[in-house]
Amino acid sequence: MFKDGDIVKVLIPNVINTGYDYRLTANADTGDFVRVTVMNRQYIGVIVGSGDGNLDISKIKPIIEVCNIGHLSRADIDWIYKMSQWTLMTPGAVLRLILNVPDAFLPPKTEQLYRVNFDSKIKMTDARQAVFDAFQSNDNDAMSINDIVNIAHVGNAVVRGMIKSGVLVESVVREKTNTDFIYKYFDTKNVVLNDEQRAAADILKTAVDKNEFSVHLLDGITGSGKTQVYFDALLNAYNNGKSVLLMMPEIALTAQFMDRFKQRFGNPPVVWHSNLTSARRRNIWQGVARGDIRVVVGTRSALFLPWQNLGLIIVDEEHDPSYKQEDMGNYHARDMAVLRGKISGFPIILASATPSIETLHNVALGKYKRIRLTSRFGGATLPKIETIDMRTSRPEIYKINDEEKSGNLSAELCEEIRNTLDEHKQVMLFINRRGFAPIVQCKKCGWVCECPECSMSMNYHKHLNKMVCHMCGKTVAMPKKCPKCGSDVSMRGAGLEKIEEEISVKFPNAKTAIVSSDTMISREALERLVHEMENGEIDIVIGTQILAKGHHFPNLTLVGVVDADMGLFGTDFRSGEHTFQQLFQVAGRAGRGEFPGRVLLQTYNPEHPVIRAICAGDRDEFMGVDMESRRAAKMPPFGQLVAIIVEASKETTLKKYCDDLKRVAPQLNGGKIMGPIAAQIYQIRNWYRMRFLVSGDANANLQPIVRDWLNKIKTPTNVRVKIDVNPMNFM
Ligand code: ADP
Ligand code: ZN
Ligand code: ZN
Repeated sequence: MFKDGDIVKVLIPNVINTGYDYRLTANADTGDFVRVTVMNRQYIGVIVGSGDGNLDISKIKPIIEVCNIGHLSRADIDWIYKMSQWTLMTPGAVLRLILNVPDAFLPPKTEQLYRVNFDSKIKMTDARQAVFDAFQSNDNDAMSINDIVNIAHVGNAVVRGMIKSGVLVESVVREKTNTDFIYKYFDTKNVVLNDEQRAAADILKTAVDKNEFSVHLLDGITGSGKTQVYFDALLNAYNNGKSVLLMMPEIALTAQFMDRFKQRFGNPPVVWHSNLTSARRRNIWQGVARGDIRVVVGTRSALFLPWQNLGLIIVDEEHDPSYKQEDMGNYHARDMAVLRGKISGFPIILASATPSIETLHNVALGKYKRIRLTSRFGGATLPKIETIDMRTSRPEIYKINDEEKSGNLSAELCEEIRNTLDEHKQVMLFINRRGFAPIVQCKKCGWVCECPECSMSMNYHKHLNKMVCHMCGKTVAMPKKCPKCGSDVSMRGAGLEKIEEEISVKFPNAKTAIVSSDTMISREALERLVHEMENGEIDIVIGTQILAKGHHFPNLTLVGVVDADMGLFGTDFRSGEHTFQQLFQVAGRAGRGEFPGRVLLQTYNPEHPVIRAICAGDRDEFMGVDMESRRAAKMPPFGQLVAIIVEASKETTLKKYCDDLKRVAPQLNGGKIMGPIAAQIYQIRNWYRMRFLVSGDANANLQPIVRDWLNKIKTPTNVRVKIDVNPMNFM
């Protein structure tokens, strides 16, 4: 406890500081939030300890106020600094993740709010649908125009138009307050665990009751009921008076999931993701800070809520790449959750049907304990997975207006689709590429349509009738002729929309839906699809990886993977693992109800180890082999990597800075520094990019070396340096 007049160190949520000294004007404690000024600007910071006397006493400014909401524990502060050491984000940058709800310290705003008038009718457009979805993400709470624009990603004019036509009306209803988010949870007894689930839940109960650090991998096949098992642990921790965080990938936060939660615990969860109104964000942040909200289901950013008395973190789909944050600081939310559990002393549950190699390695080392669920709930069987060898089964040709098109679906797959439709069951086709064709190329000189701002080829999107850059989103008109030589251009490769075309010709009576991040701009849109699937309004759903995530469609019995080879020959060391996980998850969508499922993989490489392992259902064998090859190559988790990505808008500046860095590069024991080389994508949004890659043994502790190295040369103002510890992305 500090007293009025004491000098304390305050950490400010800003990238370039390590904390400043201030004089207290009231009693306060380490971990309290305080309002201070830095260069005439007000900030909310946090007291991290006593002042270090670096500043002349006459220069020390007083604290404006000690905020009466929220408090970080000593362990939380340790966690901030440890996370900073690991990721090389500054402590201030980490604190900024916690204090990213600036409204939380302000009185409620008095903006005009609007609600949806459900009695009015309006012609639906994509933009208007996005507005309705934004409301739905917030349980149809009244919203300000700002909120609508930010969440729906539409222009002001769209919202004004909807107000004018009476679809959105002024709301007199008050904003929700934080008491609206305080629920009581109890066991409804609606779910009875089976023996295998019970045994798993009992192990977790022991860990939760012990209330000390441990990590448990809940390793269960798709459909085994992992959710119900970790729900059990969640309720135990809650009943012990602890707070509980359940992290999920954004796309898995479905109504289906919320219903299951409510069914089990009697009330809905408090949900945290990026599409909440500012009022909701404030209320939830404050509720958590006060310790009133003790259970939150959210995306990776929920890890940074001001948790009080946190006693359990569950990371569902722990292998999911969306836990890795790659803008504004690089961190892996799963690993930072484990770090938090370790420092504060509470258990962590990681759940997956396809755990990451990193996690499996920790199991092998005995650091994480594994709990297995080996059978699908309710006697559902795992689907049969087979290949279609495309070297012998050529794709069937189809015709549009008498013009022959080379197809992408083999006769065998089409036959099986036909059979499935005849049995009134549903089909899912998986192709992990958006748009119609990934490449538009000159037939004569070989020119390829590339994004003018990124070094990437542009994709033809038929629905938009435009070329789209999948890196920066830029669109240009489809070139009619080659701009270099004037010859005709042709499209190469197949995306989602091309498969849709082929299906519509071959199965004209089937009701199809396509699903990708182009069409499913929100979770709500995805939910409509889930409903239509459940109600049998769709026969064939064609989609990208969005479809691979935890959905449960009881009537879906056939999954076809159009191009199982995509991703097999990727350039980074995780391609095998990621392709395996993705195909395995997609396969897991089939036959989850009472009807057995079948999965067909179209491939030119039926002998490839990834494909063979998937067909054999032999996850452990495959992961074992993949792990050995990583061990041999000293890739993570058997070695450490730190990527340094340098970006500049001028090539000369970039080159000079990289040369300067190279000149002062340190000598590493048991490691090396590679680069600088041009990044795989050399140009993004007109910024040029070079990369260094630092590698070392698993215990090399590269971070301080990298930090000291980068500190040797001042970064020019027009250069951006991004540090990525154990990168997932090598672009
Ligand atoms: P996983 O996450 O392991 O793939 P889920 O948790 O989605 O599996 O469970 C698959 C299906 O089985 C879901 O519909 C779920 O509600 C149901 N289920 C699992 N366990 C039980 C149980 N003990 N009682 C009733 N339904 C269950
Ligand atoms: Zn040409
Ligand atoms: Zn681009």
